[in-house]
This record gives sequence, structure tokens and C-alpha cells, in this order.
Amino acid sequence: MTLRVYNTLTRKKEDFVPIEPGKVKMYVCGPTVYNYIHIGNGRPVIFFDVVRRYLESQKYEVTYITNFTDVDDKMIRKAEELAVTVPELAETFIQAFLDDVKTLGVHDATLNPRVTENIQEIIDFIAALVEKDFAYEARGDVYYRTSKFAEYGKLSNQNLEELQYGIRIEVDDRKESPQDFVLWKAAKPGEIYWDSPWGQGRPGWHIECSAMVRKYLGETIDIHGGGQDLTFPHHECEIAQTEAVTGHPMANYWLHNAFLNIDNEKMSKSLGNGILIRDLVKQIKPQVFRFFMLSAHYRNPLNFSDESLKQASNALERIQNAYDNLKHRLTTASATNEIESALTDRLAAIASQFDDKMNDDFNTPDAITAVFDLVAEANLYLQQERVNAAALQLFLDQLQAFDQTLGILSQQSDELLDEEIEQLIIERTESRKSKNWARADEIRDLLTEKGIFLEDTPQGIRWRRK
Ligand code: AMP
Ligand code: ZN
Repeated sequence: MTLRVYNTLTRKKEDFVPIEPGKVKMYVCGPTVYNYIHIGNGRPVIFFDVVRRYLESQKYEVTYITNFTDVDDKMIRKAEELAVTVPELAETFIQAFLDDVKTLGVHDATLNPRVTENIQEIIDFIAALVEKDFAYEARGDVYYRTSKFAEYGKLSNQNLEELQYGIRIEVDDRKESPQDFVLWKAAKPGEIYWDSPWGQGRPGWHIECSAMVRKYLGETIDIHGGGQDLTFPHHECEIAQTEAVTGHPMANYWLHNAFLNIDNEKMSKSLGNGILIRDLVKQIKPQVFRFFMLSAHYRNPLNFSDESLKQASNALERIQNAYDNLKHRLTTASATNEIESALTDRLAAIASQFDDKMNDDFNTPDAITAVFDLVAEANLYLQQERVNAAALQLFLDQLQAFDQTLGILSQQSDELLDEEIEQLIIERTESRKSKNWARADEIRDLLTEKGIFLEDTPQGIRWRRK
């Protein structure tokens, strides 16, 4: 089954065909770095990480770019409030973001470009729009002329007239039309600024992504992602900017995650119900939060509550226990390469069930069902008194392969417990007695590898850790 993804632009599921075979270029809009990220921000961060990991598991070479908005109105206001400079504020919260997402097991992006490192590219982009008459200067600001882009509204499925209705009419005589949006903002006295053909100022919000996508990924990319609130106006504006300049589609697939609510309410400043990722992970394992996020389809709203977290924690524990048990039993299992072919077949069926679900627009909740099928098989197998190392390894490999995509398992310390060491020493002595030198050597090697040293003493074998 090939991968199918729901494309916001066409409002249907489509076969995923990358521009270049075997390669995927993806861009996900990143945070404005004026605050710590909250659990809602964790949804796109985790979901698109899983998209990227899954594509990699399917042998695609993925270039994953996600930006930092390190200058805008909110940044300027917050810097003033804290009496720091905008770059100082940015540095603090970029580091905090990187720390938080690392805690969540998110793989590093290929690149995290920042607005302030791309001012020249942004100015060039705006100049190209002005040159083509898609933008106009008005007293030091530059605006995008939406009426000139016939397809404006195609992503959010609205036309200009409908849009006119929805827009709060701002009293701004600089704009030709209320739907026009700002590309370059003239600096007010005391504000951070860059020189430009239109005077001193800074970029508007939407233009940065158009400039960065083109610079780092090219004219058309495969996947562009973000939360559903970004569909309009942000992504609509990105399309208008990019496609006006390049004449090509900006992205072939537009993916948007639905929102995370708290106790069935929208998370909002006024309700004061926001929870920061860094506070949450003091209470629960980050893997539980990841599992919880993936327990709903990304296009469905997800409700965060004590109850739903507890359910996630219990469910994840079943997977983790099976994983730990497999690893423990492996340390003492007999080494044989024979595996029942029926078992191999069952595991292969589970693996393809997982892929089928992920291929169906990244249906993580159903893919997790496949993980539980594997856990059930593993638990059944572990009930046997004599288990064989090759079969245990097969289970472990499969569980780890799923986890390459999901990132929900904790890698427990590989240290052997005292009783496991004792058990291995007894088994080694018995193996030697029965002249099973291969097994005896295998156990010695395993112990050496784990830093356990054996000494022959008159009282028998003694052991110590390195
Ligand atoms: P913001 O900090 O609002 O710029 O959001 C950064 C990213 O997080 C964007 O992709 C938003 O769509 C996403 N986001 C913000 N709040 C939520 C939420 N409650 N649920 C899911 N995604 C969210
Ligand atoms: Zn963007």
C-alpha cells in the first residue's frame, strides 16, 4: 500500500508522490520564540516528528526544516517587558525550545533557520513582489496586493468576497484593501530595524517562510505543515507570496494538525489553563505525553485531562513491560537460530498492518493497535519456560522498528541486575560441565561486555563490577 495523505489544499486524501524519488523536502512552521512552549505547541512538534521518522523508516531521505520567528511585534513587546534586547530574548527561548523538544524525543531538524539570519533573502523576496506589482510601498510599509493573486483563498477555501466579510476593518489608510497584508513594517522609534529599499524596518510574519522555504528547499517542496490555525491567514499568505514570484506551487501537500484542548476547553491565556511542556515533564514521563498525542488521529481534536493521561500511561506501560521482559529474558535465553515460521509470519503480518495504518494518512491510533498485537504475541511467547534468543530478538527488533517511528519507549539502563548475573554464572558453570563451550563463552563475553569480571576463588566463582 502506498502512502496516502490528506491534503488541505485539495481537501482529499491523495497518493504521496515526492518530487524527487526517494527524497522528501518538508517544512514545518516553528514557534515565535518569546515564551516557553505549551502542551498545545507539542502537538505539531510531535506529529511532524513522527511523519518525518515514518518517512525515514520507509527509506526516504528527509530534509526537515523548521524555523524560528525571532523578531516580530510580540518579541518586541516581551523584550521591552523583560528589559532585554530582542536577540537576548530569542536566544533564551530558542534554547528552551530545543531543550523541550529534545526531552520529548523529537529528532533534530536538518536546520532551524531564523528570521534575523535571512533578512537579505526576505528583502529580495519583497523586492521581487514589488517588481511584479504584487506588492506596494506605503509610507515605509510594504503590503501584498491580494486582489492581484487570483487564487488567494484557495488553501482555506474562501474567496476574496467572503474574506472581506470576515475581516475586522482596521483603520489603516495605508492599505489599498483590508485583505492586503504586511510584508515589511516601518520601524517605530527605538524598535529593532534593518535597512531596506523602503527605509528602516522589519519583516512581516508571513514572508519569512516564503523566503526560507525557497532558500533552503527550493521553489516547490513536498510537505508543508503546521497547526490548523495556520491555514489562514499564514499559509494562505505564504502561497500568495511564493507562487506570485515563482509561478509554481509552493508545496504539493499541505498538512495541518487539529488542536489540543484541556478538559474540553480551548487552551487560552484568558482561561489561564495553559500548561508548559517543561512543567508537564516534571509530573509525567515525556514518553507518556508522546503516546497520548499519538493516541488520536492528528486531524481530530484531542482532549488533555488527568484521565486521558492516566489511560495513556497505563497503555504505554504494557508496551514498555513487554519490551523490558523481552530484554531481560534475552540475557538468559538459549542461543538457537531456529524460529517457528508461523511466528515469523505473524510478526510480518503485524509489521505490515502497522505500515498500512501509517500509510493511511498517518493513522497513529490504529498503528498503535498493531503495536499491541505485537505485545500480545510477545507476552504469549514469554509465558513459555524455554525461550529462544533468536525469537526474542525478532520481537525486540520489531518493537524497536515501530519505536523508530513512534519514539515512545524508554531505553532502560542496560545494566544487569545482581540476580541476573548470578543466574548467568550458574548457567555458565553448568554449560562447562556439560561441555557446551559455546554457550559458556557466550555468557563470559556478555558479562565482560557489561563490565562484570569473574574470579575463580577456592570458595567458587566471585564476581565484581568494573
Ligand atoms: P504559536 O505559538 O501559537 O505560534 O503556535 C506554534 C504552533 O503550535 C503552530 O503550528 C500552532 O498551530 C500550534 N498550536 C498552538 N496551539 C495549539 C493547540 N492548542 N493545539 C495544537 N496545536 C497548537
Ligand atoms: Zn510559516
